[in-house]
Amino acid sequence: MPTWMTVDADDLRHLPKHQGHPTRSTTDYTGTSEKASPSFRLGWSGFLRWMGTHDGIVTLFVITDALEDTTFCEMLAEAIDAFSDRLTVGCHGHSHRSWSAWGEDVDGFRTMLIRSTELLRRHAGTAFRPYFRAPNGYVAPWMAAVLFEQGYKVDTSVNPSWLVKAKANGAAWSDVIKAMSEAGVVERAWLTQLTLPVNGPALFRFPLSLIARGAWRKTPPLLKAGHLGEVENPHAPITTVYCHVLDFARDNGTWTPPLPRHRAK
Ligand SMILES: [Zn+2]
Repeated sequence: MPTWMTVDADDLRHLPKHQGHPTRSTTDYTGTSEKASPSFRLGWSGFLRWMGTHDGIVTLFVITDALEDTTFCEMLAEAIDAFSDRLTVGCHGHSHRSWSAWGEDVDGFRTMLIRSTELLRRHAGTAFRPYFRAPNGYVAPWMAAVLFEQGYKVDTSVNPSWLVKAKANGAAWSDVIKAMSEAGVVERAWLTQLTLPVNGPALFRFPLSLIARGAWRKTPPLLKAGHLGEVENPHAPITTVYCHVLDFARDNGTWTPPLPRHRAK
C-alpha cells in the first residue's frame, strides 16, 4: 500500500481566520491577486529543496486566485519543469472558500470549479490532474455530483475523524464518501490514527502532534513516478497524507515532513 503525498499551496491570506468561512472569518474575501507572502516564498524554497531529496510523487493542491500573480505562475511553472515526472497539480478552490460551511450552493460551486479548472489547465498544463481538495476540509455530499460533472476523478477532502465531523455540515463522513462513490468520484480520505486527525495542522498541535508524527513515520513508501493513476482506482489501497507549503517555512525554512527516514535518497 503506497503513500500519496499531497501539499496544499495556501498562503497566509487564505487561512479561515481571514476569509472564506461564515463564522471563523473576519472578512468576506472572494479572491484577490495579492502577491505570495515572504513566509510562502520561504516555504516554497523549502518544499522544492525537499522535493530534491526523494523520488516520490507529490500532488500540489493550488488555490487558483494565486494564479492571478504572474510571479507565482512562474514559480509554479519552474517547479513543474524541475520535477516534471512527479509533481502534479490539483484544485484547491479559487478563493479557499469553506464550501460546506455555507450550506448547499451547487451553482456557486460549479461556477468556481469551472473558473478554477480553466486556470489550472492554462498554468499547470499536462501536470494538472482532475483531483480536488475542499478548502479547510469543508466538504458535503452535494459537492460530489458537481465534481463528477466537471470532470473530477478524485476527491481528497475527507478527514474521517469524529473531532472534525462538523465540517460536513450535518452529514456524516460516510455520507460524503457514499455520495462520491455514487457520483463516480474516488474519495481518498486522509490518514488518521486512533480516529484522530494526523494531517495538516494536527502535525503541529500538541499533544495531537505526537500521535501525528508517529503515524507519518509509519507510512509506506511514496508512490513513484508513473504510478499516480493508482489514486484513481477505487480498489487500490493507498495512504493519503498532506501538509502545507507554509509548513516548509517552519524552523527557518528547514522543516520537512516526518516521513520514514529510509525514504531519503
Ligand atoms: Zn487549504
